[in-house]
Amino acid sequence: SRPVLEAEHLRKEFPLNGGNPFKARSVVHAVEDASFALYPGQATALVGESGSGKTTVARMLARLYDPTSGTIRFRGAPISLKGGSAALREYRRHVQLIFQDPFGSLNPIHDVRYHLSRPVKLFGHARSEEEVTEQVLALLRRVSLSPAEQFIQKFPHQLSGGQRQRIAIARALAVQPEVLLADEPVSMLDVSIRLDILNLLLRLKDEERLALLFITHDIASARYFAENTLVMYAGQMVEGGPSEEIIQAPKHPYTQLLLSAAPDPDRITSKGVTDVAARGEIPSLINPPQGCRFHPRCPHAMPICKQQFPQRTDLGNGHWTNCFLYTKETASEAQSAASK
Ligand code: SF4
Repeated sequence: SRPVLEAEHLRKEFPLNGGNPFKARSVVHAVEDASFALYPGQATALVGESGSGKTTVARMLARLYDPTSGTIRFRGAPISLKGGSAALREYRRHVQLIFQDPFGSLNPIHDVRYHLSRPVKLFGHARSEEEVTEQVLALLRRVSLSPAEQFIQKFPHQLSGGQRQRIAIARALAVQPEVLLADEPVSMLDVSIRLDILNLLLRLKDEERLALLFITHDIASARYFAENTLVMYAGQMVEGGPSEEIIQAPKHPYTQLLLSAAPDPDRITSKGVTDVAARGEIPSLINPPQGCRFHPRCPHAMPICKQQFPQRTDLGNGHWTNCFLYTKETASEAQSAASK
């Protein structure tokens, strides 16, 4: 099928002059040249350690941040990167973001009905208060909060973390989005309910043919729920493609490191299975290493890796990587170096 959302060469820099234009500018190079596509009815895992830029990517897609450069296409048409046009408002409705913290996302003084009736009134075409209530109840049933008649009058403090996350998901669904961006939606929840929320998102993805971007630091869990995987390191996208292939046969040295640090892929709900911090630090994004940002940690680094960022190499079947081990110019050099 055709992609619903496409990112082309997205880049994001944050100036660090504290708002003072006369101060020397230093810049956080948060995301460099991110390109990928999201498809209806498919989940894509965006994997990286904290500080890799994955949340910044999601926030650019949700248009909470303006990209510094690059293109976002929705159903094939480029979306304006600045301003508040009608097209941009329409886009924002179709691309919904679910946050990590279900406790921060609901206003404590309002009940569930209030939180869900606002988007329903804006987008649900309800003609009366009764119809609004009917649609809110239907939303609660879709996220498996039952009896819905009970949940509709509860306040956030009367809900568990998992129930709040279900409300946040229901609120996103209320505007009938085509893309759901979920930023580590289970990482702050009890281990025992993480799978339930994951399964809910997967069911909705199938039922509504949503394109789901699932941000996680846990590459091992990606194969369970995501058809596709994207791997980010220090603001650079380094590998992408079908999850099964990436997890069975990772090509980029960083992906290989991530997977070797996740020895037990069945521990989907355990914390920190990909805790690679012990094996090295993500470099600062204020003065990132030139070229491939992984080169200080890479066991295969070549001189060229310190000068240039490698072009994307297509490995077939939708699998690609950005690494000089696989580019035409340097693959033979790398092989002869390896055989010495
Ligand atoms: Fe290692 Fe070079 Fe590949 Fe970067 S481009 S991962 S430094 S071999």
